[in-house]
Amino acid sequence: MPTGPAPIDPDDFRSQQGGMMGYDLSRFSPFVGFETRVSPEGYRSAHATKDYEIGELICTEVSWCGVVTEQYGKDYCAYCYRAFEDPLSHIQLKGKKCTGGCATTYYCSRECQKEDRAFHKYTCKTYEELVKFGAEEYAKTGMDQEFPLEDFLLLRYAFAKCCKLGGVPVTGTEAPPMPAELQTLYETDPVSPAHLEQQEGALAWIVMKSFPNLRPLSMHFFRSMIAKMRCNNYGFLSRIQTVFAHGLFPKTSMFNHSCCGQVVVVYNGGVQELRIVKPVKAGDELMHAYVDVTATTEERKKKLKELYDFECRCPRCMGTLPYDEGGIPDSELEEQYDFSDVEQDLMTEFQMISQEFAETSRELYDVTRRSLVVLRKRCGPYNRRLYMTESAACRNSMRLGLMERAVEHCEKMIQFLRAVTHENHPLLVLQEMTMEDIRETWEFDDKAERERIYESISKRAGHIWGANHIFSQLYAMRLHKLRNPGYVPGESSGRGGGGGGK
Ligand SMILES: [Zn+2]
Ligand SMILES: [Zn+2]
Ligand SMILES: [Zn+2]
Repeated sequence: MPTGPAPIDPDDFRSQQGGMMGYDLSRFSPFVGFETRVSPEGYRSAHATKDYEIGELICTEVSWCGVVTEQYGKDYCAYCYRAFEDPLSHIQLKGKKCTGGCATTYYCSRECQKEDRAFHKYTCKTYEELVKFGAEEYAKTGMDQEFPLEDFLLLRYAFAKCCKLGGVPVTGTEAPPMPAELQTLYETDPVSPAHLEQQEGALAWIVMKSFPNLRPLSMHFFRSMIAKMRCNNYGFLSRIQTVFAHGLFPKTSMFNHSCCGQVVVVYNGGVQELRIVKPVKAGDELMHAYVDVTATTEERKKKLKELYDFECRCPRCMGTLPYDEGGIPDSELEEQYDFSDVEQDLMTEFQMISQEFAETSRELYDVTRRSLVVLRKRCGPYNRRLYMTESAACRNSMRLGLMERAVEHCEKMIQFLRAVTHENHPLLVLQEMTMEDIRETWEFDDKAERERIYESISKRAGHIWGANHIFSQLYAMRLHKLRNPGYVPGESSGRGGGGGGK
């Protein structure tokens, strides 16, 4: 059997590269492999400049500005966005609390705090007051939504940065000129006046008022800034696809939405990487999904209208995407099954499960099992409610150490994700990795099957996160060890100079 050069040992790799989280943002050089076009009506789009193959990088960009969500404030650096704890790379950093006076901001190092100071200082000491002020003012505007705290903080950050770049004092009376790198973003894509007036108008007013000397003269600047910012705001995704921060990436904001696009967006701390996951021809419009693609067409449409004010006309929404490429109709995803004859107790339990996803107990798991028996019998394999319940059951069975059951639930989830996404979708590959993690702790004797899976995951993780990412390397290493049973990382230098030694 050909062994090939040893891949980099992930343990080695982790210590060398900080688990692919080197994060010296000052040394980061952005890469743009697409062109932006603007239609006569002012709508912009991103297009491939050449034919692209699966796995090719088309853009990297460091966030122009960003804010860690309140929930994750203690877990991520507010400047470079690295995670303080990363189980996969064994990284354990002690987050350093901001020394400027706020209790909410943490940094990975004092260097990061220093870098962030120029903009953070307008929020730091007055954080508590600002949050209180913002919420009170927002309530006065009669908006019935919850105060968008993250948007508010992000806008203040962005405003301070605009001032800085434009040479205008942040606490002055003058609105700054629009920075060049944001120009395309702000001068294209008409925003509907209603959208602008209501939500954005209220928030704009509050942001402006939160800078004491600014006069209403700059209202127009604020409103359009806010409208564009909220539409073009990205959620930074952690390795397990949870949103831990929000921020602006002016270049990648040129990409429009499709529920079945060819582009995937991943994050390395504050750096965004966009890769091709379906083949692309030169000139093709490049798109990625703004919303959860496991949702039904109905749900996706609602979300897109609400957040971005447009109607998606992608093949999936139009019903022309082939079934085996993720074109599953809503009828198969939806909760359209009649449960009226199911005993009331179990119906209540269904509700309970969806509300208590996070809880773990043998009792809750048994209830979930009972619900699954009914759901599996009644629903098609691509029913979303079934998927969500399998997901809860999977998590709980893992926590309870019921590994055989975890594999069973995981298999069902993979089946669902395979149908509604595509081969190189992060959700699918992550789920397959979870499956392998479970199997590692359990028994899994079919070596050939294992080899096939490791090879596939390593390759596809490379397509999504890049070949150097720890996910890709981890599976390359597992594959290598499987093929070379006696292999001890670090002892052999591998063949062909492929590394593996220190
Ligand atoms: Zn940092
Ligand atoms: Zn602070
Ligand atoms: Zn769509």
